[in-house]
Amino acid sequence: MNKHIDLIRQLDNKPNHTRLEIIVNYLKEMGIDYRRQEYATGVNLVVDLGDTGKRVGISSHFDRVPAAPGANDNSSAIAVCMNIMEKFQERKNNGIGLRIFFFDEEETGLKGSAAYTNRYGVEDLLGLINLELVGIGDQLAIWPVNQNASGALLETFERSSKAQHLTTRRFDKIVTNTADHLSFRRAGLADAFTITCISDKDIEAAGHYYSALAQGAHTEALLRILSQAPIFINYHQPGDTYDKIEEKAILMTSSAVWDTIISIPSFSSSFPSRCKNP
Ligand SMILES: [Zn+2]
Repeated sequence: MNKHIDLIRQLDNKPNHTRLEIIVNYLKEMGIDYRRQEYATGVNLVVDLGDTGKRVGISSHFDRVPAAPGANDNSSAIAVCMNIMEKFQERKNNGIGLRIFFFDEEETGLKGSAAYTNRYGVEDLLGLINLELVGIGDQLAIWPVNQNASGALLETFERSSKAQHLTTRRFDKIVTNTADHLSFRRAGLADAFTITCISDKDIEAAGHYYSALAQGAHTEALLRILSQAPIFINYHQPGDTYDKIEEKAILMTSSAVWDTIISIPSFSSSFPSRCKNP
């Protein structure tokens, strides 16, 4: 079994404190330093990679809802973070600055990410890519961002995904529009968004959703439409297990994020071999 899928398998159904321990052990095996941010009701893990001024934040949450094993929500994101750290380790003196987050208590009101931004602010971050449900699908949803939204990180992400022939789509006004990006936006970091892996069938369901929304459908009806999308079938359900996770979705997400990171202008000067705009 691939090591990322195996990590997700290990995390399935474990209590949140054990999930934290599994992540810590994985980081130790990789030889990666981390710090624990303890706050009133939980603990976040923060990893800084590289030695630069401002960093790009990449975030996941490690807690799960009690009803679900937590594979796609959100062990998939943990696996992507591990893969990004592996990519970082493969390069030396790369000029990149990353801050990888493993947040606690996302599911109970974004408490971990709020504890972080309340304590440390967002001044030292260039932007944030938050990862949610990145283990099933062959395209990437970016949310919540409308068609007019701009931002250096957002646009770099879209550009470098396109260069890899990956389809990205912006979504706004989704019923479930909260995730850890919100704590960062509230703290003043506008260039913060969430990405999620989706498939054609999800986009079809989204089409139904938006037309119902335009017709003024009630929240209950909207939620029923969303529950038909493959991405939501096992969402917060006992069926959210590791065997549904697609290794290629994990790798697609981490390569989209990694290519974004190395394309950021203030970082990419250390990549002379890469094409730059004239
Ligand atoms: Zn989640």
